[in-house]
Amino acid sequence: MLKIHNPFTGKIIREMEMDTPPAIAAAYEKARRGQRQWAATVFKEREQIIRVFRNSLEQNVEQLARTLTSEMGKPKQQAKDEILGTCQRIDFFLEQTASELKMKEVYRKAQATERISYDPLGVVANISAWNYPYFVGSNVFVPALLTGNAVLYKPSEFATLTGLAIADLLYAAGVPQDVFVLVIGTGAVGAELLRQRLDGVFFTGSYATGRKIAIEAAKHLMKIQLELGGKDPTYVCDDVEAKSVAASLADGAFYNAGQSCCAVERIYVHAKVYDAFLAAFVDTVRGFRMGDPCDESTYIGPLTRAAQLSVLEEQVNDAVAQGAEILVGGRRVDGPGNFFEPTVLAGVSHKMLVMREESFGPVIGIQKVDGDEQALELMRDTKFGLTAGVYSADRERAERILREVDSGSAYVNCCDRVSPRLPWSGRGNSGIGVTLSLHGIQAFLKPRAWHVEG
Ligand code: NAD
Repeated sequence: MLKIHNPFTGKIIREMEMDTPPAIAAAYEKARRGQRQWAATVFKEREQIIRVFRNSLEQNVEQLARTLTSEMGKPKQQAKDEILGTCQRIDFFLEQTASELKMKEVYRKAQATERISYDPLGVVANISAWNYPYFVGSNVFVPALLTGNAVLYKPSEFATLTGLAIADLLYAAGVPQDVFVLVIGTGAVGAELLRQRLDGVFFTGSYATGRKIAIEAAKHLMKIQLELGGKDPTYVCDDVEAKSVAASLADGAFYNAGQSCCAVERIYVHAKVYDAFLAAFVDTVRGFRMGDPCDESTYIGPLTRAAQLSVLEEQVNDAVAQGAEILVGGRRVDGPGNFFEPTVLAGVSHKMLVMREESFGPVIGIQKVDGDEQALELMRDTKFGLTAGVYSADRERAERILREVDSGSAYVNCCDRVSPRLPWSGRGNSGIGVTLSLHGIQAFLKPRAWHVEG
């Protein structure tokens, strides 16, 4: 039985049966049959259905945000922003998918032509994380459906009610029930899903689970995409106005209680602006309102998973034991509610867990550096490679530094940002494959090479 908790009250809000292995096998067979018919529909029909879905997200934003807040504790305003932001992402896919599906002629000579056509992958699994269930879900199921795939969608066990709401709206819009199939349960259910003869798995979650997915998927040689965690660094150069940069980075570190894959997780500050930056950063963090996530003025809500409180505690204790100083916060708050105080640590080093392991919570380490070279060395000292950022008045300087850091996204004077027009991808332990952008549409297609003579 899946017990769904409200992370603010600590109460169980719903209990649900999880899918059993026979039910998962049946869901797969159903999707296999449904996909053939779905792929045979004209694109305009699929496009129209997804447009209706997109509009229904907008129309139901209040109710959907309430559900999301109740099961994962995301402050209501941020939940609404996520849902409306998802509409913009869907707009991108609606505008761009038709041209990606068109046959392309790449060569012609006398009677001979070479062309590329595109087929859907077939039946794909979408195994999703809970922290931005609308974003990370729709990055996969929207282009997958538009390109003619069937989707077995397993929402995170911490965002199941949102998964159900998404399915309801897709069905109401006209997606057949055998084309988008919901699979409910924990990691064990996800593992069972991977035992089906899938054509692809699109996973968003932690590095540890991503490895397991890759190993399981390899047994059937299916296409695999993994969007995993990060330990995203930002370097603040000596030529910036410290106050505005501090405000921007505090938001990048603490939005969604730091539970963002591209949250700022490490900050390096040039010695010349270090004191001014630190003072402004601490000031901003002290101003963050923590509390009831249903209250629209709340900025920091509870953590979604109670287990993460101990991870943060361990990181803070380890840092302090090795000489770090807590400037703000540092403790979990007595329950009910999975609250951890927004925490700023100074005097940190790369010997500490907080600068090496993903925190995925409202804790940030800030380290003083003596120049670009040291900053670069520290930024590169990680196995992750999701995003990296530099704040500088000199754009050339920022871009030069970022070219030396192996990350899927590079931020110049900004952070914690995702655009539907740009590829979203991780390097190293941050993942394999791309969502969003035209690459994120192609990801759901198989090219066929046509050699035509005569
Ligand atoms: P998780 O790895 O615990 O779970 C992710 C999903 O995998 C869930 O649906 C879970 O039920 C399922 N799962 C667990 N074990 C499985 C198994 N053995 N086989 C198949 N499925 C299994 O991650 P999470 O806690 O949901 O999400 C947090 C992580 O996701 C963080 O590391 C974060 O950085 C990362 N994330 C990355 C991105 C990105 O775009 N790169 C976006 C959001 C979150």
